Amino acid sequence: MRATRVIIHLDRFRRNLQGVRQKIGPKPRICVPVKADAYGHGAAQIAATALDAGAAWLAVATVGEGAELREAGIGAPILLLSLPLPEELPEVVSLGLIPLVADRDFIREAAGAAKNAGKTLEVHLKIDTGMGRQGCSPGEAAEMAACIVREKHLTLGGTATHLAVADSSAPEDAAYTKKQLARFREGVEGIRRAGFDPGILHGANSGGVVFHEDSWFDMVRPGILLYGYSPGPGAPEVTPVMEFLTRVMFMKKVKQGEAVSYGRTWTAPRDTVLATLPVGYADGLFRGLSGKFPVTIKGARYPLVGRICMDQCMADLGPDPDIRRWEEVTIFGPGTVTAAEMAAALGTIPYEITCNINKRVPRMYLDSRGSVPR
Ligand SMILES: *Cc1c(COP(=O)(O)O)cnc(C)c1O
Repeated sequence: MRATRVIIHLDRFRRNLQGVRQKIGPKPRICVPVKADAYGHGAAQIAATALDAGAAWLAVATVGEGAELREAGIGAPILLLSLPLPEELPEVVSLGLIPLVADRDFIREAAGAAKNAGKTLEVHLKIDTGMGRQGCSPGEAAEMAACIVREKHLTLGGTATHLAVADSSAPEDAAYTKKQLARFREGVEGIRRAGFDPGILHGANSGGVVFHEDSWFDMVRPGILLYGYSPGPGAPEVTPVMEFLTRVMFMKKVKQGEAVSYGRTWTAPRDTVLATLPVGYADGLFRGLSGKFPVTIKGARYPLVGRICMDQCMADLGPDPDIRRWEEVTIFGPGTVTAAEMAAALGTIPYEITCNINKRVPRMYLDSRGSVPR
């Protein structure tokens, strides 16, 4: 196996999921977003582990992601969170994905695709309550429900919304979330008053799960929390599932004043020893971290120096390091720098870090239960 690799600790994923279950109680279903290859963790493996650990639903962003899960033999209900093109609808129907719909044209297209296949397609109605991305307004919800119910080949299995600031505990953000939830209940009431069953209700992302009990309804959709990053203080204890490792590939002495890497942005301030690491921005070690981020070797942190290259980077080990070639190096992992700290150094969020660990970085799956889903 390549020196640069990630370890996916499935046992930690299970524990994080159990923490969510304890928090929300036995009733709400858990839908696990496994979009973007399960935030970079591997969709098929995370999906199998999640279902085994008590999740009932999965969610993806693209039809291709849904196909990958079906090919892996996963039969659980799968929500399709982002709108597909009309020409992708036959595949949505054949895979049995459950799209979020919100407008008349798309409902008609979806019904047509289901009819052509001689099947019934379950859809969920998406109400936009303040995220501003996709969805109908609360006032239109009853009318859209009527459009769906009128179609013989569609069923309205659920009604959903998405929260924009549920992860923030700032008072004005908490108030905004309350307003979103009130608008959602208003839309759902409209559907019921018109005589339709809205199906299962769901609106909670990780922030909703942690901070807004009134967003749990019949199903929750926590992502980042299950991958082990807290959406804010007050979250149940979670542990990062992904560990990003490499090894020292080469060591060399450099003299004071010698320049290192592209652009000569760093020159040795004193005689020192550098380690060359076989990991670069093509693996997800963003170039923007050049000079701003440490790696951990045998429990001590060493700064990355000079530009991070596509496939390699350099760490300054100091003049007299007790480190040998081939030593294990942690880029982020337990007991040292986390992906959340790496994200902070870049002005981004841990989602973007784990999603960008490239395909060429092999994933190793560890599960204390001994079963390692493929
Ligand atoms: C990605 C996503 C989620 C999960 O969000 P987290 O912040 O990772 O918990 C939930 N719902 C929808 C619609 C999403 O797109």
